[in-house]
Amino acid sequence: MDFYHWFFWLVIFFTGAAIGSFLNVVIYRLPRGLSLLRPPSHCPSCGVRLRPAELVPVVSWILLLGRCRHCRHRISVRYPVVEAASGLLACAAVYFNGPYLPAVLIYAVCAALLVTFFVDLDHMIIPDQVHWVIGAAGVLLDIRRIWLRGLPGMVAFSERVGEQTLTMAWPQSLVGAAVGAGLFLALGYLAQAVFRRPALGLGDVKLAAAMGALLGPGYYFISFFLLAAVLGGLTGLVVLVVTWGRQREHYLPFGPMLALSGMVMALAPEQVSRLVLARFLL
Ligand SMILES: [Zn+2]
Repeated sequence: MDFYHWFFWLVIFFTGAAIGSFLNVVIYRLPRGLSLLRPPSHCPSCGVRLRPAELVPVVSWILLLGRCRHCRHRISVRYPVVEAASGLLACAAVYFNGPYLPAVLIYAVCAALLVTFFVDLDHMIIPDQVHWVIGAAGVLLDIRRIWLRGLPGMVAFSERVGEQTLTMAWPQSLVGAAVGAGLFLALGYLAQAVFRRPALGLGDVKLAAAMGALLGPGYYFISFFLLAAVLGGLTGLVVLVVTWGRQREHYLPFGPMLALSGMVMALAPEQVSRLVLARFLL
């Protein structure tokens, strides 16, 4: 890669990382019902306001060795991790979609899922705003698909009515949302009947509806679910081994696994589906 290529990807990375620094604020404040804009970024320990030079994503944390310059209070490593993850997701969105509008929408989905990952980990809830961001991106990409491809970009269903065959065509995002929500609701009831305790929260069902709007009602959605289930199973196994013999009071939230699976499926649905489905069906 020549200099201009490096420069291009650095700009994308630091744009994503700067947004990631805002996502840190969202992750902390959204589930607590605090304003996202006020007060401006400050040290959680001594309250000193951060200078512009301390707001450079990832770099500031490393230069300050993870401590506040004023009171030397430790700053969680999660802050630069979220910033770096957001930067990498922006690069991946541009890599798989080119520097066009779909990349922006796919990045927005990934950013919402990054927030989901940490908020669900901390509070076991998924904020509703996340579902709206993902659902809106899914609808906009669907409008673009119908604009470019017309009827073949929709889900068609034909019936005989008298002498004629009538075909009803629904937008893929609408059918995807309905199938996603329905499937997760049914799975939730089934799991509750088998394990005799709530297995899937309403937040998971809403996330499934939003991801269905994005991925459609086909195999991309099935891959999204299978990958989340595999990730959840593996994590559960690791937690089981690490906490062996100790009392385990809380069950593993499924939301973070749905978020991880959702990110890779949003970025590269074709490639990831091929990998996932090869393990199960093909
Ligand atoms: Zn401080």
